[in-house]
Amino acid sequence: MAGLLDGRVALVTGASSGIGEAAAIALAKAGARVALSARRADRLATLVQRIEATGGSAIALPGDVVDEAAAKAAVERTVAHFGRIDILVNSAGVIQSGTIENCDTAEYRRVLDVNLLGTLYTCSAAIGPMKAQGGGDIINISSQASRKVAKIFNSYSASKFALNAMSEGLRQEVGGYGIRVCQLLPGATRTEVADHVSDPALRSAMQAHVGKEGAVEASEIADAIVFVAALPKHVNVDIISIRPTSDTAP
Ligand code: NDP
Repeated sequence: MAGLLDGRVALVTGASSGIGEAAAIALAKAGARVALSARRADRLATLVQRIEATGGSAIALPGDVVDEAAAKAAVERTVAHFGRIDILVNSAGVIQSGTIENCDTAEYRRVLDVNLLGTLYTCSAAIGPMKAQGGGDIINISSQASRKVAKIFNSYSASKFALNAMSEGLRQEVGGYGIRVCQLLPGATRTEVADHVSDPALRSAMQAHVGKEGAVEASEIADAIVFVAALPKHVNVDIISIRPTSDTAP
């Protein structure tokens, strides 16, 4: 049976775990050839094997999205290897706790670097090839924290509010070239995202939040990514909010 995304090529950042890993698997299952980027090369190599074992096609492009040259090289190497880039999923992201008084500014900067600027670098690099092909899909993984601020995760909210602004401006910039841009806003999703929070108490609280009964599964976010990419070319779903049914916050 023909796949929804047969013939398409996707680059997924943050593909070594969580939503990015699930997106890579779902995109490959739908027929796309996938390039996988993140820092943990061992995880990417395992994922390449897993995708190839099911008949898919994948390459690992280890790198740090904060390194502008490396982030742009991931796009260039995708095009060099597969001949094109149709879908860019920016899932690389980190969360840290912290308020403004006594702010650890290095940590704050790091969150903005990964979540906002890392995404900007790959988006910027993908526009040229997508324009030349006559279109493409850019799906940026934002967060419910881009709609409401939790004071204890100030840098995270700031990065995701800014990411939405960058993504919306990009949508306005490139829609005329057939390039669709989607902001995808997950709520609590069962991944490793909380494991890297520095503060032990807040790490535990975040782990409980994303691992709670009824949390969204990464594969369910991945299904939405495939849905967006498979729509007719004239349809741009530009914002998706996905959260647990039990999340009754406004
Ligand atoms: P994970 O921690 O499982 O995945 C994060 C991914 O980002 C990893 O693959 C990690 O790979 C990669 N990454 C982190 N820093 C860098 C870097 N400097 N360069 C390259 N890659 C990097 O968490 P999620 O899957 O949950 O997170 C994915 C996205 O979803 C993030 O943007 C997050 O903010 C967002 N999100 C998640 C929610 C949740 O509840 N899980 C809710 C809302 C949004 P590596 O360490 O190998 O580099």
